[in-house]
Amino acid sequence: MATSSLRIDLDAVLANWRALDACSSRSTQTGAVVKANAYGLGADRVALALARAGVRKFFVAATEEGAQLRQTLGDGVDIHVFSGHMAGDTDMINDLRLIPMLNSLDQVTRHFEALQNAPFGIQLNSGMNRLGMGLPEWEAVAPLILSANPRLIMSHLACADDPDHDMNRQQLDAFKYMTDGLGFPRSLSATGGILLGPEYHFDVTRPGIGLYGGLPFEEARPVVQLSLPVIQTNQVSAGETVGYSNTWEAEIDSRTATVAAGYADGITRHLSSKGTLWAGDIPCPIVGRVSMDLITVDITHLDEVPKSLDLLGPHQGVDDLADVTGTIGYEVLTSLGQRYARHYQGGLPTDPRSNGVSGA
Ligand SMILES: *Cc1c(COP(=O)(O)O)cnc(C)c1O
Repeated sequence: MATSSLRIDLDAVLANWRALDACSSRSTQTGAVVKANAYGLGADRVALALARAGVRKFFVAATEEGAQLRQTLGDGVDIHVFSGHMAGDTDMINDLRLIPMLNSLDQVTRHFEALQNAPFGIQLNSGMNRLGMGLPEWEAVAPLILSANPRLIMSHLACADDPDHDMNRQQLDAFKYMTDGLGFPRSLSATGGILLGPEYHFDVTRPGIGLYGGLPFEEARPVVQLSLPVIQTNQVSAGETVGYSNTWEAEIDSRTATVAAGYADGITRHLSSKGTLWAGDIPCPIVGRVSMDLITVDITHLDEVPKSLDLLGPHQGVDDLADVTGTIGYEVLTSLGQRYARHYQGGLPTDPRSNGVSGA
């Protein structure tokens, strides 16, 4: 088989969710962020496992993602949409009972005019200057909005992955100033904010990356393993080259293996002659350019030709791989391509007749 295999450990996702849930008091509800296809791991399977484990608040980036999630999970859960209520979203929001997190006066107007009495949440800008209403706007419209019963009032931290950053406290103060005493449920923290401590938890938390085994949740259980099958090996004599543009030249007589994955599978070309695949416990350097569907590695030092080599596994997690090319685990995960055969371990067995949450 020439397709690489991506193993996704749903039990690890659930364990990570429970560990983050245990960071906050029982009055705080821990949600789950499953935007971007659950960070590339498959929103349907991941969200279903989480819902069966008791998660009732889900967050996605776009209305279309929310619509898909509603088909998967049925009616027993809240689905919040970070991008709010965009032109053209009205029918989907209404038909699938999504909760748009309204982030501007324009969106508030659009929502109230199109869908009176339909649920909504509010997004405030506490300093990140990305999404949400800032203080002047909020002060102007808060009475109107509050009289319509927002389901959730949220903001987002810019620097929560750095516990010592002054910005965390500044945003906490700004968020409290804008929302203290209003009496509506509040949410400030993603994975990083949960780890900052109870002051940051409020009523609902929104972990994403921590569920999927990434930093800043250092104690996270790894979730993904990516094995790339070896298609062919080559004897490469000293002085010969490997791959496009001859960028790697063998210094000694060498043996290389060619594996079945490349940049079309989300494995960045920046790993060319830089990254490492693993044969069990033994590292094998990538030699030459990563091409679209193929990668070559030096296996001169191996006793046997392995059936496959790991790009992600026990010796190299998503953040280790990210470090090699100067990116973050989030990007490694969300880049994982569509060609991999995705194998799910754990969670609960899939029974298409019951998702365990409808009408709950
Ligand atoms: C992506 C996102 C999250 C989840 O963040 P993680 O760092 O992955 O836990 C939470 N809230 C908002 C607004 C987001 O955009």
